[in-house]
Amino acid sequence: MKIGGYEIFAIETGRFALDGGAMFGVVPKVLWEKSNPPDEKNRIELALRCLLLRGNNRIILIDTGIGFDWEDKFKNIYKIYNSKNTLIDNLSEHKVSAADITDVILTHLHFDHTGGTTYIEKDDHKLTFPNAIHHVQEEQWEWALNPADKDRASFVKNNFLLLERNKRLNKLNASGRLFDDIDLLVMYGHTQGMQLVKISDNRETLLFCSDLIPTASHISVPWVMAYDNNPLTTIAEKKRLLPQAFEERWILFFEHDPFRAACQIPGGWTVTGYRKYYPVTDIPPIRIPKCSP
Ligand SMILES: [Zn+2]
Repeated sequence: MKIGGYEIFAIETGRFALDGGAMFGVVPKVLWEKSNPPDEKNRIELALRCLLLRGNNRIILIDTGIGFDWEDKFKNIYKIYNSKNTLIDNLSEHKVSAADITDVILTHLHFDHTGGTTYIEKDDHKLTFPNAIHHVQEEQWEWALNPADKDRASFVKNNFLLLERNKRLNKLNASGRLFDDIDLLVMYGHTQGMQLVKISDNRETLLFCSDLIPTASHISVPWVMAYDNNPLTTIAEKKRLLPQAFEERWILFFEHDPFRAACQIPGGWTVTGYRKYYPVTDIPPIRIPKCSP
């Protein structure tokens, strides 16, 4: 897939699982279990999918997955399935090494989005992408350093503190253009200053939805995670964004959907009537190429 000056590739970095009830908030299990069947502990499987963009003299990675330096207890709680090399191996399929990455866009600093940013070597934390500038909204940076009690457990400071110390951090202050054909859209429902990434030319648009729309099931406006700090804000943000995405046939790219990397919103969608007419299992996936030519 190519949009603007960029070749675009999905990078799978592993799988994990979260409580289904927490993933769908107030939506009853009898509805969500059809599209996302839970395991015996009520957890649903989730992807840890990043996006690689190559072009315009940059090699850009969006988010870095969950990483691999976790203790067994943590791995068991979140059913983490990956290996030390999953992210790096999958980048190398595209002939990209860690040192080649020029920019990392971190949508936000929750551990399942930044875990691959660092690794431990001889009890020391190191940057996985030592040459890359890592782009984060300043509001999210400040929030991550002083989170609310509700989402304190989602921030693991060793994943990101090193960025500032090593001068690899670019703190941003608003929505807007980052590079040619790449815009950042700042959101506040999930966490303060989460940035979505919109890649667009005059022909096609791909939106990296991060945790605003973590899976295709969440295209339905009231299907909002209990993890969100401000669920009513999430609903307002979806109502603002999705009609345009529907009208203009944007490709929605999902970081966590276990079944599809991306899709377009099917015909007939409305802000209030989506689930009624289009059960999520009917959404055809869009395949983002795995291997470069
Ligand atoms: Zn998150």
